[in-house]
Amino acid sequence: MNRLAFLDVDGTLAHPERSLEGPPSSYACVDHASGRCVAYASQRTIGLLAALGTAGVRVIPTTSRSAEQLTRMTLFTERPAVAIVSAGVQVLVDGAPDGDWHDIVRARASSAAAPDDIIAGLADHPARRVTRREGLLVVLAYDDEVAAAADGAQARARAAECGWVAQTDGRRTYLLPTGITKAAAAAHVASVYGPAPTWAAGDSALDLELLSWADDAWVPAGSWAASVAAPGVDVTEARGPAAAEEMCERLLLAPMDSR
Ligand SMILES: [Mg+2]
Repeated sequence: MNRLAFLDVDGTLAHPERSLEGPPSSYACVDHASGRCVAYASQRTIGLLAALGTAGVRVIPTTSRSAEQLTRMTLFTERPAVAIVSAGVQVLVDGAPDGDWHDIVRARASSAAAPDDIIAGLADHPARRVTRREGLLVVLAYDDEVAAAADGAQARARAAECGWVAQTDGRRTYLLPTGITKAAAAAHVASVYGPAPTWAAGDSALDLELLSWADDAWVPAGSWAASVAAPGVDVTEARGPAAAEEMCERLLLAPMDSR
């Protein structure tokens, strides 16, 4: 039976330059934006991800990146057949949106306020930049984590008034209609490709529900998720890019019939 591995990308498998340790030659740039490298992964992690695929583990990137932001990455030697993007707004199958999940998302979004109304109801904040991914995930980006945390309370209050949920991860706050999450999208994927043991890894607030839902879950040591991880969620021994290697190695070595 294939195991389904729902893996967050940024902060879990790929990292910014400031997180790298050891010789630069052990890393590859896996994402460029605006003419510079914005994400790195170790050569070993890239190799392990490829090995997982050939070992019968279905790796499903489960990310707050948009489809375009994920597709441009060179983290995966072969494009994963299934991916969850924009924190659950879209499930991609062979690069195209899954129609059934699209219908579920539209139905859930229809019982919440429109994205434009959410944005219009936020009081001005000088450091805030607002973007949308896949038309629905509202992203508030800031120059630093202090500004994001300070403005996050307002976003959470506004979201709660409107049937939405706001979660802050580093320098960004993400807002989605209630019921649209990485975990909900993962459950949909598992219903299509299962029954199968499920495994998850992630580092932020956006991942907590996913980590609790999966049969087995890991968080990188030193991450925000590690500080609040629920019982049953394991914390790696290593940090940063080495934690990505540790998680992939453990998944590769895990018995295929375990849960
Ligand atoms: Mg992350």
